[in-house]
Amino acid sequence: MNTTFSCVGCGKCCTDHHVPLTLDEARMWADDGGQVIVLVEAFLPNGLGLPTVQREHAERRSAVVHSGSTEAFVAITFAAYNVGRCRNLDEENLCRIYERRPLVCRIYPMEINPHIPLNIAVKECPPESWETGPQLILGGELVDQELARLIERSRQADREEIAIKDRICAALGIRTTALKGDGFTAYLPDMSAFVAALDEARRQPAQQHFSQWQFHLSGDDVASQVSACGAQVVTEAPVNYAFISLRAA
Ligand code: SF4
Ligand code: SF4
Repeated sequence: MNTTFSCVGCGKCCTDHHVPLTLDEARMWADDGGQVIVLVEAFLPNGLGLPTVQREHAERRSAVVHSGSTEAFVAITFAAYNVGRCRNLDEENLCRIYERRPLVCRIYPMEINPHIPLNIAVKECPPESWETGPQLILGGELVDQELARLIERSRQADREEIAIKDRICAALGIRTTALKGDGFTAYLPDMSAFVAALDEARRQPAQQHFSQWQFHLSGDDVASQVSACGAQVVTEAPVNYAFISLRAA
């Protein structure tokens, strides 16, 4: 596959997109007065919730946690909460923090998940952005090596920071996950508490938090599958989170 690309500055990728953040970026976002959304999904050791092809990637970016009588692999994303236009997008669709914008903003429209190939049909970029400009992909390979390094940095941060994210979540009372593929749980923490938890988790030596996680599922059928694996399933309505279902209508 060959693809050319040139950003036309339409600002669509900066609108209604929760931008995944590294820990440093999440701290910066908070310092700037922004809101972070915490998105959580998990799969089980027997592969429930996980397509086989993604297993290695998904395991490396997950914390191994306890749920009921089983373990679970929990992936936690801290993202800039962008409902509508990003707080940093100015009237001319320029980024006010361009020089220090998050990694994922620099990587778009490329994907950070190695199992998701670039599909221009699902990207926000208008058709003209794919018609001119330098070669982005040639023979299936990314041409821009600097961009390739940014993608690798983002993946590495995902892997290196997951244990700290788990501790931050424990401090914030974030202990309910969705099953990967079935949905996400989404939390909007108080940002002062978030910053305090983040700073504290970074001060601690690397250690796992052993408090239990529980699963929120989209329906009784999935709930009984997860329960049968020994995991703890929540039955009460969400209090401090929203459940975003991915179940087909
Ligand atoms: S930080 Fe800048 S580049 Fe990133 S979404 Fe906001 S406006 Fe866009
Ligand atoms: S959606 Fe694509 S073309 Fe529009 S600003 Fe974002 S990267 Fe540029």
